[in-house]
Amino acid sequence: MKLLSAIVPCYNEEENIADFYQEFMKNEAFFHEKEIELEILFINDGSKDGTVAEVKKLVEKDKRVHLVSFSRNFGKEAAIYAGLEKAKGDYVVFMDADLQDPPSILPEMYGYLEQGYDSVATRRVDRKGEPPVRSFFARMFYKIMRKISRTEIMDGARDYRLMSRPVVDAILSMPEYNRFSKGIFGWVGFETKWLEFDNIERKKGETKWSFWKLFIYSIDGITAFSTAPLAFAAFMGVFFCLAAFVFIIFIIVRKLLFGDPTSGWPSLVCIISLISGVQLFCLGIVGQYLAKTYMEVKRRPIYLIKEEL
Ligand code: UDP
Ligand code: MG
Repeated sequence: MKLLSAIVPCYNEEENIADFYQEFMKNEAFFHEKEIELEILFINDGSKDGTVAEVKKLVEKDKRVHLVSFSRNFGKEAAIYAGLEKAKGDYVVFMDADLQDPPSILPEMYGYLEQGYDSVATRRVDRKGEPPVRSFFARMFYKIMRKISRTEIMDGARDYRLMSRPVVDAILSMPEYNRFSKGIFGWVGFETKWLEFDNIERKKGETKWSFWKLFIYSIDGITAFSTAPLAFAAFMGVFFCLAAFVFIIFIIVRKLLFGDPTSGWPSLVCIISLISGVQLFCLGIVGQYLAKTYMEVKRRPIYLIKEEL
């Protein structure tokens, strides 16, 4: 018998746990036929509601259900990593607890592994039910990312992904602290099949991602998978040096030809504020990378476990 582990990060998902379990186990018969057993790892990411109690009910009833409980909220990326470390399966799949990743397409996904793919990823083709401002910025993010990063990052990719063991081990070999899964999946490579589905709205509860959280996350993504902003800072430096040089020549020549007295402090103020703005911006970019490096060299654990069942 082989084993398929589902990793389910949960942060305040008490209303969804039971529904998720039920939906997921509908695949039992299909996988039994393939001689594959199922297990679910609920990773409780420091929930403040009854999530742990809900999971414990299932653990008592069904020994294929496991609980890993963090000491506080470490974020979904940490939960994904913990899940990978704990999962024993020959196949591993990530799924959201809110049923936005439909368990019903799991057999179809498995079919592609049988065909020889190493992993099967999903993306949603529309963003219905999402605030337009958020969709706009999300699209911008992917557009910029595609330009500045050599790692392929798909627009609308969800974390819903089924992988075989070699891919899991590859991801585990990347123990970096600043984790950006969408980039990591692309970076490790392997033969990946992309499935598309229409966006499904969350069953119960509400999204854990505020606009601000997403914005910070996008900066994590950029710094983790591209150094283009640093090159941009250097480019701005060169550009302003050249501009200043041209400007100096212009002033000298004008002085020699027309003998103009130097005048115009408003223009001077504008130039100074523009250039100091650019300088601070570029310094900020360098600072971002420095901060990430600082967090990385500290080698703090990615998550801490309070309880494991
Ligand atoms: N999640 C988590 N830790 C967090 C935020 C979210 O484990 O800090 C989990 C959450 O419980 C859910 C999944 O990550 O299972 C996706 O979160 P959510 O549905 O809020 O995101 P969205 O689908 O809106 O992008
Ligand atoms: Mg969701």
